[in-house]
This record gives sequence, C-alpha cells and structure tokens, in this order.
Amino acid sequence: MWSYYPDLLARPVPRYTSYPTAAEFTDRVGEAYLGHALDAVQPGQPVSLYVHIPFCEEICWYCGCNTGRSNKAQRLTSYLDALHAEIRTVAQRLGGRARVERIAFGGGSPNAIPPLEFARLVDEMMLAFNCGAPVLSVEIDPRGFDQRWAMTLGVSGTKRASLGVQTFDPAIQAAIGRVQPRDLVVSAVDRLRSNGVRSINFDLMYGLPGQDRALLEQTLDEAIAMRPDRIALFGYAHVPHMLPRQKRIDATHLPDQAERFAMAALGHDQLVAAGYVPVGFDHFALPHDDLAKAQLQGTLRRNFQGFTEDRADVLIGIGATAIGQFPHLIVQNDKNSGRYRMRAGAGRLTGERGILRDADDQRRGAIIEDLLCGRAANVGTDLHRTDLRAGLAPFLERGLATLEGNSLRITEQGRPYGRAVAVLFDRHRALSQQRFSSAI
Ligand code: SF4
Repeated sequence: MWSYYPDLLARPVPRYTSYPTAAEFTDRVGEAYLGHALDAVQPGQPVSLYVHIPFCEEICWYCGCNTGRSNKAQRLTSYLDALHAEIRTVAQRLGGRARVERIAFGGGSPNAIPPLEFARLVDEMMLAFNCGAPVLSVEIDPRGFDQRWAMTLGVSGTKRASLGVQTFDPAIQAAIGRVQPRDLVVSAVDRLRSNGVRSINFDLMYGLPGQDRALLEQTLDEAIAMRPDRIALFGYAHVPHMLPRQKRIDATHLPDQAERFAMAALGHDQLVAAGYVPVGFDHFALPHDDLAKAQLQGTLRRNFQGFTEDRADVLIGIGATAIGQFPHLIVQNDKNSGRYRMRAGAGRLTGERGILRDADDQRRGAIIEDLLCGRAANVGTDLHRTDLRAGLAPFLERGLATLEGNSLRITEQGRPYGRAVAVLFDRHRALSQQRFSSAI
C-alpha cells in the first residue's frame, strides 16, 4: 500500500509526455524545422505515424482533447481531404527512406468518421509510405462502434484498440456528460476480438464527481471481468480555466486530494491483485502484452500517446494539432482547423509551433523518461546542485526513490511520486508559470 505525503504532491507538475513540455513550444519553430527534420531521416530508419481525427459524435464535458462535433458533413469531408494531402506531402518529403512500423489513429474518436474513410486513409498511407506490415492501432468510442466498423478494422489488419470507458457507474457518467451503458462496451470488446484485434485498452478515470473508492472498485471489477489487455487509470484533472467545457461539471462533488490518492492506490492494488503488471505511473497490462513486457524488460518509452513499447526515435504527427517528435525537435501541427486545411491542401507541411531540443534538453529528457519508466537514471551531472539535493532528500528519506552513486530510481512505493521527482530535473519549470495538474 502506498503512503500519502501531501507535502510532496502539493506542486502541480506536467505529465511529461515530452520534455520540454508543450508549455515551452513557441511559434519560432514550425514548418521549416519540420521539413529539415524529415529530410534528415535516414534510409531504413524506423518511424511511427500518428494521425489525428478531431471529431466526436458527442463531446464529453471532462475532455481535454482537440475535438469537435462530427455532425457537419462538409467540415468532415474537407478535413479528410486535407489529411490525404498531408499524407502525400510528408511521404514525398521522406522519399521512401523511413520504414513505417506503426500507425496510430487517435483523436477525438477516429470512429466518428465513416469506416470507409478510415479504410481509404489506411490504403493511402500503405501506398504513400515505405510500410512493411506496420502495427495499426486506433482509439474507439464504444458509443458509435458498430459491426461495419469492427469488420473494417479486421480487414485493415488493426491489432490494437483503446476504448474510452472512464466509469461504468451511470450516475457518474451523467455527471461527466458521457452516458455509455455497460453493454455497449461489452459488445465493442466482443466485436474487436472477433475481428482479430489482439490488444485492447480501457481508459478509466478516478477523481470523478461523486466517485468514491467503492464506486471505483466496482468499475474496476467490471473492467477486469472483461479482461482488457491494458488499462490506463488516469486521475481526472479539473482545470475549467483551461478547458471551458469542464465548467459543466459540478466541482463541489469532486473528491479531495487525499481521497484521490486513496483511489489511485486502490486501483493499483486491485489491478495488481487481478494479475496486471503496473506500467509507469498510471498504466497496467497483462503479462502477455507488449507493454507489460517492455516495462519488465526495461525498454518502456513515453511519448505523446503515453507509455508505449514503441522504440522508434521519430514520431510524425499528421492532422491538426498532431505532434511530431524527433531527437532534436518537437513540433505541433496547426491547431486551427481552417488554417490546417488550407496549408495541407496547398501541399505544405503544417508544423506551426514547437521547440528545438538542445543537448541539455535531450539529457534531461532522458532522465525524466528513465525515472517515469522505472529505470535507473544517471543523474551524475546534476548532483552538485544543492537545490536538487535538497529537493531529492524527502523522497530518498521516505524510501520513494533510491540513489546509488549516480543512479537515481523511483521505488515501487514512489510510483505515485514519479512526476514530483521528475520535475526536479526540468529546467523550464523554474522559468514558467504555466499551471499544471496535481501529480495524483
Ligand atoms: S469521446 Fe473521447 S475524445 Fe471525444 S469528447 Fe469524449 S473523451 Fe473527448
């Protein structure tokens, strides 16, 4: 059982899906930098692609994604045309050098577009890029996931799917604007499995309005009964000043930080008892799954999609707001859907904001990734800093981290404190006033 130390969780911290974080992006780094980074991809270099579909049938009140209603056919069609154009532009720039090993569709809800359009996108990418048999993955909203969609995934060879579930409790579903009867999730899982999808993830949440430990336990029991290969258990971050749609959520019914910590601890213990391997600070996977293997073998990575077994150093984002990651560069495509469509349609790359990662950023990024992925991080270069030693001391004293020589590691007890340790290596946090959410 984890111990609760509120003083160590008081500071809001980034989720570190990249370092530097998106809060450090500037508009000085954009299209031209992306072009140079694509030009520098070496022949045969493994590359992953992420395709963003910013549409959903219904918008959930808690959602932090860039997405909008899919009810306007013209908007959807012109976005898809832009995506096809961008795929051709990026592929041309790569000139067949990159070896595409993974293609992930996220959003939004990729199944907010017609299944035929998904198949067309997959076909376009298979033809445009140098693909062998890439691992295809897709995020799914169970509410719009019918048999036609499941069969399309089967025919395309999609092997991984992630379902937005959040909670099975009907009252909490109503309180967060996502009403989704359990049977929908059951039938989505059945359809995915019978069409060859072999790794299914559930996204679940704790810290929701009106949720207590007993209700979370019930949701976890129901999830475990369906045996998803992976479960991501996220803490709900209530930040209506940044996400106005969250204003519809009644904040008076949100659990406090002590209860949130207790929920995260309960989730961890319940999932571990059910045979799941804890991965990073908020993912769990059954031992046969590649994510669990990556955690156990020390090869886990962290990128914009969260914890991943993907080892490629280059991730190319396609679609509005999609983020690309290169060792020396992070770049985000235009967030403005109209501008994105115009640029992509004109055959231009759409990178609009980002940051160059200098050698120090890359070193610090490696430390943060190692810590969050459960590996020993070499922190020798930083140990002379008195502020760092002072910052680390309470974590070391309480057994939440160990320091042997230059090797710093988060312990099993320290799992919920990983981000609070990682932030000590973030040189930008001292400079930025950007607000983040609690580490738990
Ligand atoms: S379905 Fe997913 S992406 Fe769409 S609004 Fe709900 S949480 Fe956001």
